[in-house]
Amino acid sequence: MSATAGWSSNIARMVDMKLPLITHPLQAFVTEPLKPFINRSVSSANLHVYVYQTDRGEVVVGGGVDPYSSYSQRSTLHTLEELAANLLELFPFLRGVNILRQWAGLCDMSPDYAPIMGEVDGLPGFLLSCGWGTWGFKAGPIGGYTMAELIDTGITPDLIRPFNVRRFSQGKLVNERAAAPAAAVH
Ligand SMILES: Cc1cc2nc3c(=O)[nH]c(=O)nc-3n(C[C@H](O)[C@H](O)[C@H](O)COP(=O)(O)OP(=O)(O)OC[C@H]3O[C@@H](n4cnc5c(N)ncnc54)[C@H](O)[C@@H]3O)c2cc1C
Repeated sequence: MSATAGWSSNIARMVDMKLPLITHPLQAFVTEPLKPFINRSVSSANLHVYVYQTDRGEVVVGGGVDPYSSYSQRSTLHTLEELAANLLELFPFLRGVNILRQWAGLCDMSPDYAPIMGEVDGLPGFLLSCGWGTWGFKAGPIGGYTMAELIDTGITPDLIRPFNVRRFSQGKLVNERAAAPAAAVH
């Protein structure tokens, strides 16, 4: 089984398989703690930015994946400036707030923004759970649960059947772009 996110294409290549995934860095940053001012996540599909405040008062800001493919996990000044400018469009009063840290991780983006889950035709025992892109935290629990059921029973649960990798050769894409509007590739 391969559940190696941004590295999935490399692992698949070991079994002569070409996955329709492109690995992009995704960055986020966090500000110094502030008094509470929002109690929900605010996301703008136009600006490609999302904002929420943690229990500690820090403001977490993220956005779209970097618009190029890379395995670099270094954060960049350009993305910081872009995210900060978009943040100020939404919350102008945050001008002057200090940024504490910024980070980058790798996202395995599929053409339909949906994960790839399940068995691979012609490769018995080689299972995939990848292509989670920018929203794998949220779906992690049910993704893990259903993959465990497949491993245990050998039967693909109905819930994940549409996410098999063969959908790309069959033209049966699952459009999940709306699941990550702020993070979709520009
Ligand atoms: C900045 C940022 C913000 C994000 N924000 C959100 C969010 O708000 N909500 C959300 O739902 N998702 C978010 N995500 C996306 C989320 O992090 C991913 O979708 C999720 O972590 C993918 O889970 P995974 O289990 O597929 O892969 P990962 O959690 O990346 O785990 C893959 C594992 O495979 C290991 N591995 C790689 N190669 C090998 C190998 N050859 N052998 C053995 N092990 C290997 C890696 O070390 C890693 O531990 C964000 C990502 C980033 C970078």
